[in-house]
Amino acid sequence: MARSRREPDDPDDRQRSRGQKAYWAKVDQIAGYFSQIMDVLGLPREDPHLKDTPDRVGRMYLEIFRGLEEEREPVFTTFPNAEKYSNMVIVKDIEFYSVCAHHMIPFFGRAHIAYIPDQRIVGLSKIPRVVDFYAHRPQLQERLTEQIIDLLVEKLEPQGAIVVMEARHLCMEMRGVEKPGAYTTTSAIRGCFEDKVVREEFLDLLIKDSKDR
Ligand SMILES: [Zn+2]
Repeated sequence: MARSRREPDDPDDRQRSRGQKAYWAKVDQIAGYFSQIMDVLGLPREDPHLKDTPDRVGRMYLEIFRGLEEEREPVFTTFPNAEKYSNMVIVKDIEFYSVCAHHMIPFFGRAHIAYIPDQRIVGLSKIPRVVDFYAHRPQLQERLTEQIIDLLVEKLEPQGAIVVMEARHLCMEMRGVEKPGAYTTTSAIRGCFEDKVVREEFLDLLIKDSKDR
């Protein structure tokens, strides 16, 4: 295959001119190993649908694991809380797709995030980008939840924050215990959300909103 015809799957990679050689070297390395897995499974390399699969898997891994590259941490610009807003800010139903570190197959679901500002606030579109960044790694749902809240707390220094994640794990549904449709919920709380009253306000707002739809 002509090198110049090959394009990274991730639009960000396509735009970045530097690092292309390193990118393709990684794709080729993963493709080489994946060809061996196919051989072990007895899959014919010459099958028209499998011929380019190792190359595709290589590109796909670099795309779905792009969050392993620290330099891709989203720019998290905060602003002074000039209006002294001190109520709860909630971003809910943030869809995410991640990959289970134990089995390397997807888990996916929704994140609900709230914080109560102190001196700084953030543009709301930035919060889903943080979820997206950490989800694009081999993950545990518990660790993902903690990494998201840690970054929010580090950048915003809020009065408090909460992250709740609910997800379906294909490693539980396709194999192992085979529990289709089961949701796993994780949460992390910091600061004033330790207070039961504050936490209940958050939960009330989550449930109320869901009923309205
Ligand atoms: Zn798993």
